[in-house]
Amino acid sequence: MSPPDTSFAPSENIAKLKESATIAVSQRAKALKAEGREIIDLGAGEPDFDTPALIRRAAQHALDHGATRYTATEGTLALRTAIAARATVRRGRRETIAPAQVVVSNGSKQSLFNACFCLFGPGDEVLIPTPSWTSYYEMVALSRATAVAVMGDPNDGFRVTPALLTAHATERTRGIMLNTPVNPTGTVYTRSELDALLAIARERGWWVICDEIYLRIAFDGDATSCLDVAESLDRVVIVDGVAKAYAMTGWRIGWTISAAPLAKAMAAFQSHTTFNAAAVSQAGAAAALTLGEPVELVVRAMVEQFRARRDAAMAILAEEPTIRVIPPEGAFYLFIQAPGAGRVSDAGTVFAAQLLEKHNVAVVPGAAFLAPDWIRVAYSTDIDQVKTAMRRIVTAFRAR
Ligand code: PLP
Repeated sequence: MSPPDTSFAPSENIAKLKESATIAVSQRAKALKAEGREIIDLGAGEPDFDTPALIRRAAQHALDHGATRYTATEGTLALRTAIAARATVRRGRRETIAPAQVVVSNGSKQSLFNACFCLFGPGDEVLIPTPSWTSYYEMVALSRATAVAVMGDPNDGFRVTPALLTAHATERTRGIMLNTPVNPTGTVYTRSELDALLAIARERGWWVICDEIYLRIAFDGDATSCLDVAESLDRVVIVDGVAKAYAMTGWRIGWTISAAPLAKAMAAFQSHTTFNAAAVSQAGAAAALTLGEPVELVVRAMVEQFRARRDAAMAILAEEPTIRVIPPEGAFYLFIQAPGAGRVSDAGTVFAAQLLEKHNVAVVPGAAFLAPDWIRVAYSTDIDQVKTAMRRIVTAFRAR
């Protein structure tokens, strides 16, 4: 008798799933560091700051006072009330957002997946302004819908326009994944641009998932939220969380704000996958949203540090006139065209490998965002490291 076949054959659900390229870069950088190399890791999109002390203390207090048990699937009423209250302020006089419209998840990544999975299915097409965060394509595919990349104009920060969207739409188009400020380009959509995108979606009956995880990190005044401009939230899902603005990546708290029936469906779905986000993390997130000015001061100080790093990085890159960078208006990324773009196939991957192996700088190849001629550089590390890394990038450009 032949031995049983123990090899793993993935199910059809994940047969085409790709590993997250950003996580892969980070792991390679860590492995090289472990070998003693002095790598500057500009791969991961994670703020280097500690969570503000006031938030940590509030969570410690909550832990000692019962935040150790299951909560409602959709999150504690305290946190959902805080989220709804903030959203209501942004909605202005249009409407009051109720806690029943909020679902809290284990990071905004789960919130995005909940929304994709509950809204899209076989036969549906979903427009994804590109380049975009790598997970959108996979989340849409995991929902068994088809991701349709809509490449923005590199001369306009890779923004997409209603005309570009409609050029890619078919009768099967069911939704669009919006993100502002954009990972990986740092582009921030203006109020009128966002208004126009929401208007075309409304006209066509598309669902809009607005990923606003970087909204607080914008350098030219407040970035516009879909909450500020959407006429109605009937077909809009706002996705946000505490990870980036409050330096709380490891707490894993994100949320959706949507019409109540969709919120109910997403909570039902989550009740069978992960159930509630950690009670203590929810308490920390509630503190972040309700402690007011003392926490907001820290957030503003972090944003100022991101701005200083961006300015320092751009000043160094400007010393080499052949370097093309998308003007970074928010988030903490630089999207840089790789040398050899247009001549070498997958120039971004080639350049990222060179930067890592010869210049000890880890960045993410643009192929991860469907823009293979580019690289993404995260400046979410201290300013001296950012400056050193930028000098190395300039050296690498000049060496080619
Ligand atoms: N959305 C975008 C555009 C991101 O870049 C990230 C993380 O890198 C996320 C969502 C996920 O954030 P969270 O930590 O809240 O899951």
